[in-house]
Amino acid sequence: MFNLILFGPPGSGKGTQSEKLIAKYGLKHLSTGDLLRSEISHQTPLGKEAQNFMDKGQLVPDEVVIGMISSALDGNPNAKGFLFDGFPRTAAQAEALDKLLELKNAPIAVMLALEVSEAELIKRLLKRGETSGRSDDNNENVIRARITEYHNKTAVVADYYKQFEKVEMVKGEGSIDEIFDRLCKEIDKRA
Ligand code: AMP
Repeated sequence: MFNLILFGPPGSGKGTQSEKLIAKYGLKHLSTGDLLRSEISHQTPLGKEAQNFMDKGQLVPDEVVIGMISSALDGNPNAKGFLFDGFPRTAAQAEALDKLLELKNAPIAVMLALEVSEAELIKRLLKRGETSGRSDDNNENVIRARITEYHNKTAVVADYYKQFEKVEMVKGEGSIDEIFDRLCKEIDKRA
């Protein structure tokens, strides 16, 4: 099993690159943002609870997303590996993920961390907001709140994996294909 985390601030290209990576490497894509949006569109109790946080650009409570990831892991017993996108986003989530993967004897192989300047992130998110239908993408205040959450709570997740020498920084600016090639080079070193 090959498990990888695609990491980076909102707008760094995780969703776009995840689609290409799962196609090439046959991994199962687990995006907590996508799972939460699906809960919202089905108007489940979990979705309704999560929406209050997402509308403000705040992180959803750890126990909610950890529960979703735990079910998704159990629901895909034959996966060749998982690509985690937008998870873990706090140190507590990272520790919980490591415990869940320990049970499967399949630790995280690498965290690929996309680096993009803040001005470029805001530009990309506002542009995405024109077509994504995501209310959290077309309001600059919500975008800034998401980036603040990233700095306050999520950036430390990279430090968590650095202690195990699992982090590779990847330049997240340039063309989609250039960035994809950089990511693939890092994966191929390890797969
Ligand atoms: P994303 O699609 O990854 O940009 O996530 C959209 C929103 O969903 C975030 O702004 C958070 O409110 C929520 N979210 C997604 N993943 C997580 C996570 N791992 N932990 C907490 N909240 C999350």
